Amino acid sequence: MNNKVLNNLSYGVYVISTLDKNNRQVGCIANCAMQITHDTLCISINHNNYTNVCIEESKRFAISILGEHVNDNIIPVLGFSSGKDTNKFENIKTKNIDGLPVIEDSVGYIICELVNKFETETHSVFIGKIVDGDILLNDKPMTYAYYHEVKKGKSPEAAPTYQKENVETDKLAYRCKICGYIYEGDITKEPDSYVCPICKKDKSFFEKI
Ligand code: FE
Repeated sequence: MNNKVLNNLSYGVYVISTLDKNNRQVGCIANCAMQITHDTLCISINHNNYTNVCIEESKRFAISILGEHVNDNIIPVLGFSSGKDTNKFENIKTKNIDGLPVIEDSVGYIICELVNKFETETHSVFIGKIVDGDILLNDKPMTYAYYHEVKKGKSPEAAPTYQKENVETDKLAYRCKICGYIYEGDITKEPDSYVCPICKKDKSFFEKI
C-alpha cells in the first residue's frame, strides 16, 4: 500500500467548535468536513479530542472555514493543545452565533445540529443538519495542501491524515512530540526561548530521533 496516494484527496482546514457541559467554549482543528446533501454535512473528530465528547453532549457544532491569511496563532492554539483544562479561546476573537463560538478571522461559518454519528476505531463521524451559516471574510479558503506546502504545517497524531515521517537516522534531528515537526541539527544549542515553529511548544517537547 502506498499511503502517499491519500495525499491526493483534497481537504480544507476548519475549526470545529461547541460548548462543554459548563458552557465553556471548546474546539479543535479538523480537515475532514464534507457536505453530503443540500442541508447535511459530516465531520470526523478523534475520540481523544475533548471536542468529541462535547459535541456528543451539546448535540451542536459550528464549523469555521479558515482562509489562507488566517492569523498564525489560530492553528497552533486550537490544533495542538487540549481544551479540557485550558481555555483555548482566551486569545482568539470569536463571534457568538446561535450560542456557539465562531472564529471571527474566518472565511465563514456553518452551524449544525447533530442528527447522527457513527464510529471508526479512532474517530467519530458526526452528521449535522445545517441550520445557519454566513460568509465573514473575503479570503481564499485554505486547502490542506496549502497548509502543508506554504504554511509548512503538520498533522497531529489525532488527525485522520496523520502520517509518521521517516527521517534518515545518520543526521542529528529531533521530532516535536506535539505536532511532528522535525528539527534538523542540535536543538540543545537553541536558546531556552526557542519554540516549535508549528505548535509553539518549547524545546522540552522535542525528542531525539
Ligand atoms: Fe510542534
